[in-house]
Amino acid sequence: MKLIKILIIGLLAIASAACSYRSATSERVLAVSIEPMRWALEQIVGDHYKVVALMPSGADPEAFEPAVSARADFDRASLFFTIGYLPFEQKMIETTSVRAVATTGNITPIYGTHKCHHHGDQSHGDAADPHLWISIANMKAIAEAMCNEICTLDPDNAEEYKANLQELTLNLTEADAEIRADLDGCASRAFMLWHPTLSYFARDYSLEQIAVCADNKDVTPATMQTAIEKARAKSVRVFFSQGYCDPRQAQTLADETGAQIISVNLSGYDWLDQMKAVSRGLAQH
Ligand SMILES: [Zn+2]
Repeated sequence: MKLIKILIIGLLAIASAACSYRSATSERVLAVSIEPMRWALEQIVGDHYKVVALMPSGADPEAFEPAVSARADFDRASLFFTIGYLPFEQKMIETTSVRAVATTGNITPIYGTHKCHHHGDQSHGDAADPHLWISIANMKAIAEAMCNEICTLDPDNAEEYKANLQELTLNLTEADAEIRADLDGCASRAFMLWHPTLSYFARDYSLEQIAVCADNKDVTPATMQTAIEKARAKSVRVFFSQGYCDPRQAQTLADETGAQIISVNLSGYDWLDQMKAVSRGLAQH
C-alpha cells in the first residue's frame, strides 16, 4: 500500500513537471530594449505575451552590454522592439534572428547633445540624442508603434490591444498634465545634470538642461567651470543625479552652484514616477 502511494506521488510529480515545462516553452515572448518599454508593452499585451527587457534598471544605456544569460528568453522572442539609437541594440540585432522593430520613427530626434563615436573615423559630428523615452509625448509614439506591430502579429486579439493602448495613452496624458501643473509654479526653468539625459523632457516643457559632460567621460576643470558659470547665471536650483554619475563630482557641482541634489533613475520600470519626481523637484526648490 505504501509503495503504491509513493508511486502515485511520483507520477503526479512527473506529470506536474511536464506540465510546467510545456507552459514555459509555449509561452509567447516579446523583447524590448529597456524597462520603460516593458512597462508600456505589458499594459498593451496583458497576459498574451511575456515581455522581457534586455537592459536592467539603472544601467548606462550607452555603455551597457547584455549578459549572455539574457539571451535565452531573448532568442525565442517573436519581435524585438528597439529605441533605435542605443549601441547594445545594434549588437543584439547583428547576432540574432529575432526581427527588430524600431519604435521611434515618428519622433524628431534632438541633435547637438551627443557626439558620434566612430573609432578611427575623423568625423566626430553630432549624433541623435538616444534618450528618446524620457518624454511622455515620445512614449505615446513608442507605445503606438509597438501596438501596431502586435496587432499585425496577433490579429485575433487586436481589439483588446487597441483598447489597452487607448487607456495607456489616457494615463500618459494625465501624467503630462500633472507635470505641466508642477512646472507652472517653478522658480527656475533651468536645471543641471551630469550627462544630458533629459533633452526630450526639456523640449516638451520648455526647460533648459545644463549638462556637464556629453560623453560620460572625465571632464576637465575648464568644462566644469563653464557649466558652473552657466548654472549660476540661470539660477539653477536642482542637480539631477543618476546612478552612473560620480557622486563626488555631483557634490562639487551642487556646492559651487547652490543646487540641491535629487537622485532619479529614468531607465527603470517606474520611469513615469521618476518623471514626476523631476517636475516635483523643480517645483519644490
Ligand atoms: Zn546619452
